[in-house]
Amino acid sequence: MEQCDAIILRVYPWSETSCVTTILTRSQGKISALAKGARRPKSPFEAALDLLSVCRVVFIAKSADSLDILTEAKLRRRFRIGAKDLLRLYCGYYVAELLDRLTEKGEQHPQIFDLALCTLDNLEREELEPRAIILRFELQILRELGHLPTWDRCAQCGCLLWEVDSEPEDSWTLFSTFSGGVLCQHCRSGARQILRIHRSVQSLLIRFSHPDWEAIDVSQLESKHHEVIRKLMMRYFTYLMDSPIKLQNYLEELGR
Ligand SMILES: [Zn+2]
Repeated sequence: MEQCDAIILRVYPWSETSCVTTILTRSQGKISALAKGARRPKSPFEAALDLLSVCRVVFIAKSADSLDILTEAKLRRRFRIGAKDLLRLYCGYYVAELLDRLTEKGEQHPQIFDLALCTLDNLEREELEPRAIILRFELQILRELGHLPTWDRCAQCGCLLWEVDSEPEDSWTLFSTFSGGVLCQHCRSGARQILRIHRSVQSLLIRFSHPDWEAIDVSQLESKHHEVIRKLMMRYFTYLMDSPIKLQNYLEELGR
């Protein structure tokens, strides 16, 4: 028997009365568990098994190739954004998609769990900018998983970009999805999957990638950066996961 806090990432029917749920736990990482009787009117899980709900769960861990058994789920808090703000709702679903697709079973990421909790909480707060909240989440989950692109050093040769590109009139650089970072002038020829980014975007990305993520200001993001940031992140995640983000079409407003 294991007891821990969990975020519900996915719920799907298994039989007439049961469902299978994928959850991210703080102490045990991601698990998939069978919730017997969860679809009955008076289930032991009450209404806890909703997408993005945070619960206290009890489960019986099984061997690697079979589903764990969820025996209890007590609702701690619900993701409360309804149809009144579709963009924030889709942002929440996107957080669930990234958590589910980027983490592996058996890996423990307490920092990602804390980041996800904070992100969901922030999305509910109207005074905070969803674009900034999502950008911080994206960059910080990449950092935790070791996939953060290089923003200040050339992804090919490792040189510091500011020193090489010292001409003040050149305020643009190239980001290569394929190389996983920005490129210096010497490494640009023949580069694949590139996106032109301004230095102001580059410094924004550096700021949002900072390890002290709780100190990052998510109250605003300059609107002139929305489009390029969204393009860059969608391309990078698509490349990383080898398939498009399912929520991509629902997130277009983030780029406006
Ligand atoms: Zn280079």
